[in-house]
Amino acid sequence: MKSDEVMITLPPKLYEQIEEDVSKLHIDLELSIPINPIDIAHRLGFIVKYYSEIVNNDEDFNLLSKDKNGNQRDGLSYYDSSTKKYIICVNDIDSNTEEHDNFTIMHEIGHIRMGHKEDSPLAEKIANYYAAYSLVPSPLPRLYSCSSIIDIINIFGVSVTCGEICFNRWIKWQLFSGEIKPYEKKLMAYYKKIRGGTCL
Ligand SMILES: [Zn+2]
Repeated sequence: MKSDEVMITLPPKLYEQIEEDVSKLHIDLELSIPINPIDIAHRLGFIVKYYSEIVNNDEDFNLLSKDKNGNQRDGLSYYDSSTKKYIICVNDIDSNTEEHDNFTIMHEIGHIRMGHKEDSPLAEKIANYYAAYSLVPSPLPRLYSCSSIIDIINIFGVSVTCGEICFNRWIKWQLFSGEIKPYEKKLMAYYKKIRGGTCL
């Protein structure tokens, strides 16, 4: 996450739009925790490629691994009109963990699902929120008996940085979210069902 993204606050409606789409994805694709982003991409009809497979020389790599401002690019996605499919490319060369690659794939899925056409700090913020919320939806840590950042990291399979962000979001959600939203209720009911508990 870059500093200009931190300064942007998304309007509440946009957070809800992202959260609702993510909740729908979990239920429609019958996901389980921890989620499997590559499998999700494939089931949505997207192709996932890794830089280590497609980069042939330093020039290719420099082109793919830096955005127009020279910042490191963890991945990118585009619509390939010849195959009529979205392609997600993951920078596994600069990344050293599967958790990081998983976040990148969910980030790119977020760009595609939210209809982004070009890079901007706002689009990045939205895609980052989409990825983090997909990996750890706010209604789930309690259902999975989490009480610490370590629990979030272990149960949801996320990096330390992502675990911290999601833990803080979850705490805030519990304290200030007000009434549970209809899509949150549906998500909780789905996970209670697959975990064998009783539905709300
Ligand atoms: Zn992005």
